[in-house]
Amino acid sequence: MTDLTRDDLYAMDVADPLADLRDRFDLPGGVIYLDGNSLGAMPKAAKALASDVVSRQWGHDLIKSWNSNHWFTLPYRLGDKLARLLGADQGEIVCCDAVGINLYKALALAIKLNPDRRVILMEDDNFPTDVYMAQGLIDQLDGDYQLKLVPGPDLADAIDDKVAVVSITQVNYKTGLMQDMKAVCEKARAAGALTIWDLSHSAGAVPVDLNDAGADIAVGCTYKYLNGGPGSPGYVFVAVRHQNKAQQPLTGWWGHRAPFAFDRHYDAGPGIQQMSTGTQPITSMSLVEPGLDMFLDVDFDLVRDKSVKLCDLFIRLVEERCTGMGFYLNSPRDAQMRGSQVSFNHESGYAITKALISKGVIGDFRAPANMRFGFAPLYVRYSDIWNAVEILRDIMKNDTWRAPEFNKVDAVT
Ligand SMILES: *Cc1c(COP(=O)(O)O)cnc(C)c1O
Repeated sequence: MTDLTRDDLYAMDVADPLADLRDRFDLPGGVIYLDGNSLGAMPKAAKALASDVVSRQWGHDLIKSWNSNHWFTLPYRLGDKLARLLGADQGEIVCCDAVGINLYKALALAIKLNPDRRVILMEDDNFPTDVYMAQGLIDQLDGDYQLKLVPGPDLADAIDDKVAVVSITQVNYKTGLMQDMKAVCEKARAAGALTIWDLSHSAGAVPVDLNDAGADIAVGCTYKYLNGGPGSPGYVFVAVRHQNKAQQPLTGWWGHRAPFAFDRHYDAGPGIQQMSTGTQPITSMSLVEPGLDMFLDVDFDLVRDKSVKLCDLFIRLVEERCTGMGFYLNSPRDAQMRGSQVSFNHESGYAITKALISKGVIGDFRAPANMRFGFAPLYVRYSDIWNAVEILRDIMKNDTWRAPEFNKVDAVT
């Protein structure tokens, strides 16, 4: 294998069928943004829409907007668009609430749907809120429910006839390890267990086909690869075969069959409506749509193809150009087992990440030693990979990262 050159990567940009999409984002100059797996970049259309939502819809149309600007149906319109991206049917997804809240509802629902079993199975290295929500739910329940945590690679093998639900994040937030959704669903179905998929690091990053895989329930967020904006609401999918078979516990008025009847007693709405809770953050939720529309416009095979190439190139260049500098790959080398992110462990990873950010290369750090880089194929260029690795190499060669300012720990890493 001959060494890659800078010109090779610039040539790939010229040939990139997705290259034009970058111009639909408002990205600051002098920045190589490799953190779209934590907070996606801003679509220009979101900026224009924000002004319309605040000035015209809220400012001028006021409360009429619930009807005239379709605020009340927005969670379902976005849910149906998400369904097109994620291989679900219309009426199987609603956009609402934080991921953790949706997971709480999902876990409680799954337990009701599988009432003779007592075990919730999860990966031990799952994103903390997923684990905490399971712990919090079990704490509320009478009975001997148990959260069983096993290493990610062993998860499928740990599914047995005691497991009520496997709550599984498709792409691990630290390592990028991707689970085989179809295989896990088949294993679970054979054992009589349900699956809940957390798609936070999958939606917009890897192809997802919930119904083809036979997924039961899923949750996810819109502010990472989907570019919905800081704190934009999440979503929840319930396969139509499970809808209205049992009730999730957060029975707010938006889940009621007739919210504006103001009845004394809860009567669950039909279909996915029963997963709704209450009034949603409409300004924030509105801004989910431009990012989502961009994905509905592109051929996702091209997105995946570029994502794999970006990640492979980053791994190769770090290993070729930063040899012997203490970086150890902490992601699967095999692209088939990896999402759209790459992690390297380095014992001084925190300081190196901060030094990179000061030079305009934005990635992030996850304790204890994990430097994490996300590759959002809609706006990251091949040449960015070359330039990011060169900056990393400089920081290491010049010991830039040793400066005291890079070794002080901030509140958010
Ligand atoms: C980002 C992420 C979350 C975030 O949860 P919030 O409740 O929206 O803060 C949860 N789970 C996973 C796996 C994530 O990657």
